[in-house]
Amino acid sequence: MIETSILTGAALIAGQAVKGTGAALRAWDPAAGQLLETEFFAVDNDQIDAACRAAEAAFDIFRSISDEQRAVFLETVGEQIVALGDTLVERVMAETGLPRGRVEGERGRTVGQLKLFANLLREGSWNDVRIDAALPDRAPPRPDLRLRMIGLGPVAVFAASNFPLAFSVAGGDTASAFAAGCPVVLRGHFAHPGTSELVGRAVARAVEMCGLPGGVFSLLTGAGNAIGQELVRHPSIKAVGFTGSRAGGMALMAVAAARPVPIPVYAEMSSINPVFLLPAALANRGEEIAAGFAGSLTLGVGQMCTNPGLVLALAGPELDRFTSAAAQALAGGAAVTMLSPGIAGNFQRGVAQLKDQPNVATVALAPQEEGKGAPALFVTTGAAFLAQHALGEEIFGPASLVVACRDVAELLQVTENLEGQLTATLQLDDADIDAARALLPVLERKVGRILANGFPTGVEVASAMVHGGPFPSTSDGRSTSVGTGAIVRFLRPVSYQNLPQTLLPAVLRDSGTEGWRRRDGELTRK
Ligand code: NAP
Repeated sequence: MIETSILTGAALIAGQAVKGTGAALRAWDPAAGQLLETEFFAVDNDQIDAACRAAEAAFDIFRSISDEQRAVFLETVGEQIVALGDTLVERVMAETGLPRGRVEGERGRTVGQLKLFANLLREGSWNDVRIDAALPDRAPPRPDLRLRMIGLGPVAVFAASNFPLAFSVAGGDTASAFAAGCPVVLRGHFAHPGTSELVGRAVARAVEMCGLPGGVFSLLTGAGNAIGQELVRHPSIKAVGFTGSRAGGMALMAVAAARPVPIPVYAEMSSINPVFLLPAALANRGEEIAAGFAGSLTLGVGQMCTNPGLVLALAGPELDRFTSAAAQALAGGAAVTMLSPGIAGNFQRGVAQLKDQPNVATVALAPQEEGKGAPALFVTTGAAFLAQHALGEEIFGPASLVVACRDVAELLQVTENLEGQLTATLQLDDADIDAARALLPVLERKVGRILANGFPTGVEVASAMVHGGPFPSTSDGRSTSVGTGAIVRFLRPVSYQNLPQTLLPAVLRDSGTEGWRRRDGELTRK
């Protein structure tokens, strides 16, 4: 049985702990400003190949076990993660600088996601069964047609830097791929290799406990673009899940598209999550909204994909009051350690560039410190935002830009010019309903989630959640990476025409026992 709770620097390939043969990597403790013990070595191409081949060999077995068995497997992964206790929590804190409360909360969310998909498997709707019974007397006769979903095949998942648990080794992408019956080859993030090994060992243990083939899960160690690119190029890999930078996501999309057999890449990349302050809400509650906005902007040092990086409103004294209140709420916001020196460096460069843009005024800017991020707020005009593309680029961290629009027409024009986003937020009161109604059709085209009188940070893990959106917020706006809908990314439909009952998958037989089915257009539960 694979040991858990130990750190050796090993990659995990089909249930075996294997040392990479490439360059050594040690994790950086961003809060203490020092390297951590344990060297992790980059895997070589033979090791990547072994992981991918083992995943392919495991696929037919893994996808053929019952939904109940896969649900138990997901729950066992969660139990094994919890069993790591403080060993895991302390390693995550050391590798990310995140406080204990956030890490424990994120662990709960990770286990919750695994349970959500276990429940989905038990409920059965994921099979999306559709049956068109034969109509032999029709001219021409209609054949018996039965459809269900199957997994795509092995999935390459890239761990995210900003969610070391909930969007990393056993995070949302992995949970949804496993639920779909897809083995996972995990590309660990170089910033938290110890966290990855600990969680990876928990997953590998769950694989063993559930009697599954080791190839259901592998973890690749090391740093360097070559590893991820070799993984995405591998013919056994059938889909990719990614959370990170736009440049990284785009590079992997190009690799996937250039394969002899191209594959889908589900990349969550960049979003500035506009917050609309509609006139009545701004006049009635400007100061209150400013306090909530400041809290959302600085949550997790702004290292959230849903960080409110853009505020849109009509210019005037009400907006000036909001901006002063926000500046006041942000003033004294000390610089806080960011996830990694690279992320802190990117943030500080982004802030410095925005500050120097023409037609941009600084509203709040605390002194930046090495490795840290301090809140920053700027203001510009609608005309400048329309003319200067750079003003709409993501700055990953606690920075935001207020766009003061001349009139409603300009506000609509700015909205039309936005790139695809994960979210849009409407701060509205009763008198704003007509303005909101005018914005909605545009927002529906631009974003994946529209919310009222709240803030975009804090993504509920639930069936009706969409954490996705048009490019470049994601590479494929038809998808979500949070919520039960995330499973769809790793499924494809198969239709069976006139197959004898005995050859049909159990879920499609007349005596099928699992899940919901749509028979001749009517939805019933078996
Ligand atoms: P990243 O640089 O995109 O890296 C994410 C993962 O992809 C890492 O495992 C990285 O490993 C790999 N990778 C990156 N570029 C690659 C390429 N060209 N080919 C193959 N693999 C590649 O993201 P990050 O390290 O998490 O953060 C860097 C910046 O990304 C942040 O400053 C922020 O701007 C942005 N970011 C945005 C979000 C968001 O939700 N919007 C989330 C996280 C990060 P290797 O470099 O070792 O290959």
